[in-house]
Amino acid sequence: MNHLDHIGIAVKNLQVSIPIFEKILNTPCYKKEMVESEQVLTAFFQTGQTKLELLESSNAEGVIAKFIEKKGEGLHHIAFEVDNILEEMDRLSSEGFVLLNETPKKGADNKWVCFLHPKGTNGVLIELCQSIR
Ligand code: ZN
Repeated sequence: MNHLDHIGIAVKNLQVSIPIFEKILNTPCYKKEMVESEQVLTAFFQTGQTKLELLESSNAEGVIAKFIEKKGEGLHHIAFEVDNILEEMDRLSSEGFVLLNETPKKGADNKWVCFLHPKGTNGVLIELCQSIR
C-alpha cells in the first residue's frame, strides 16, 4: 500500500461542517461531489498529500445516515492509495480479511475503491483506493 490518501469523516450537514474544516485547515474546500453508489455527498480538502473527505448522507437510508444514527458524527474511514486495487483485494482476502465489495466500485475523486469489513480490522473501516487514469 502507498500513502494515506484521505480520512473520511461522517457529518450531518456539509454546510455546517465545511466552514469548520476550512478554519481548522486554513484552506478552502476544493471539491464537492455526489457519489450515487454510496448515497453520499462529499466535500474534499487537501493538506499536503493527504485529503479529508467529509461525508453527508443524501438520504435517510444511506450508510452514512445509519452510521451517524449509531455512532454520531466523526471518523468514518481511512483510505490508502494502492497501485493495483485488484492485487491488493486478492492479497487481503487471502489473508482472511472480508471485503465489503467483491469488485472495485467507482468512488469519489475519480477512484476505484474497496472497503475492508471493520470486524477484521480492529473496528477501523479501511478503504483501498486506486486513481482511475
Ligand atoms: Zn473515502
